[in-house]
Amino acid sequence: MVVTRFAPSPTGYLHIGGLRTALFNWLWARKNNGKFRLRIEDTDLSRNKKEAVDAIIKAFHWVNLNYDDEVVFQSERFDIYKKYINELLEKGLAYKCYLTKEELETIRNARMKGETPPIDIRKYRDFKGELDKPYVIRFKAPLEGKICFEDGVKGLQCVEAKEIDDFVIARSDGTPTYNFVVVIDDHEMGMTDIIRGDDHLRNTFKQILIYKAFGWDVPKFYHVPMIHNEKGGKMSKRDGAVDVMEYKREGYLPEALLNFLVRLGWSYGDQEIFSIEEMINLFDPKDINKAPSRFNKEKLDWLNSHYIKNSSNERIEKLLRDDFGVDIVNHDRKEILIDELKERVKTLKEMALEIEKILNAPSEYNEKAVKKFLKDEVLANLREFVVFLEDKNPKLPTDWHDVMHEFLEKKQIKPRELMPPLRIAMVGDTKGIDLAAMLSVLGQKEVIKRIGKLLA
Ligand code: GLU
Repeated sequence: MVVTRFAPSPTGYLHIGGLRTALFNWLWARKNNGKFRLRIEDTDLSRNKKEAVDAIIKAFHWVNLNYDDEVVFQSERFDIYKKYINELLEKGLAYKCYLTKEELETIRNARMKGETPPIDIRKYRDFKGELDKPYVIRFKAPLEGKICFEDGVKGLQCVEAKEIDDFVIARSDGTPTYNFVVVIDDHEMGMTDIIRGDDHLRNTFKQILIYKAFGWDVPKFYHVPMIHNEKGGKMSKRDGAVDVMEYKREGYLPEALLNFLVRLGWSYGDQEIFSIEEMINLFDPKDINKAPSRFNKEKLDWLNSHYIKNSSNERIEKLLRDDFGVDIVNHDRKEILIDELKERVKTLKEMALEIEKILNAPSEYNEKAVKKFLKDEVLANLREFVVFLEDKNPKLPTDWHDVMHEFLEKKQIKPRELMPPLRIAMVGDTKGIDLAAMLSVLGQKEVIKRIGKLLA
């Protein structure tokens, strides 16, 4: 059975790169009818694990990624790690290292200058006694040969053994280090496939050594290149490297975000739009791109507008109310309003703002538009249009379309002498949804009221 995992360090929220990693692992598990597990890497006890887990689960919930079994917390597993550390000590595969801070400093400085350090970092590797001094525990890394593994994305990866120190697996206070606990957990949690950022590539060599020391099977590793910003540099908050929930607040649909993320670093021909089912069917980590991907906001917006267009009005109505406090549930012409806006907006937030603009009478009028379109004779047209309207009873956009054209005909005036002024009266500007639809949404009474307000 394929077992994958997502193993975030609790930073307080789930960011976009983390979600992509989670998604790839989730897809691969679901495709193989396997398991996708969640582990919180909270060995740094100063952080609040509950907050971090809540944030991650909230984000998972929003995008609808589910995980199997209980969440595993590293902070609850110190006894287990200790047991395994002792096992390595007993087998002579790890040792107590009594080098002092000063000695380590000397080694570091010499190395930085490219010199051979006067003290051997492996000084205590074969030391058999016990000293009454603080110590760390180091893993006995091989002294020669190569350490290699076949990465599922990048192909064969090797380092010379001499490049890997006898690395620390337990600090002087007894707490185990990241490279050690990850292996214990991944083994105990039954991982078969590990998809993660390629910033972990170098750690993998050390981790493989630990698997081998215990005689455990090494999982298949897939290292995914980073997400870069549009210029090809490191992503920053300004580029969109933010809390996943921020995308919800900005009015993105979860399926748009997942579709966007799956294409950041993975492709299937030149297909851009993938339903979740398609992603599950088609995803294979061996197709992950070898080069870093670029975050492209325009693409995200394009996908989001695609998914907005294809969402039911009922869903949109609910999201507008729940996420943006725009309640149109009881509005008679809500279907027209949503149908019109669905075709135009990139985000639900934009839709919410547009709706508020339409449903609330303007408090000011765009000066430029006023100057351009509201000449005296035009104001007279509006006044007459109100009178003209009183005998009519337009309801649907087509009715309003007919009424406006009848009026143009009767008065022998051009559309620009009626339509833009009407828009200004309705929303303070000449932009917006189809005018007949807008008037239909507002209804005759409100239309007359807003013209009155402009003329007053
Ligand atoms: N906790 C690590 C991180 O957030 C991930 C470890 C791993 O995937 O092995 O970068």
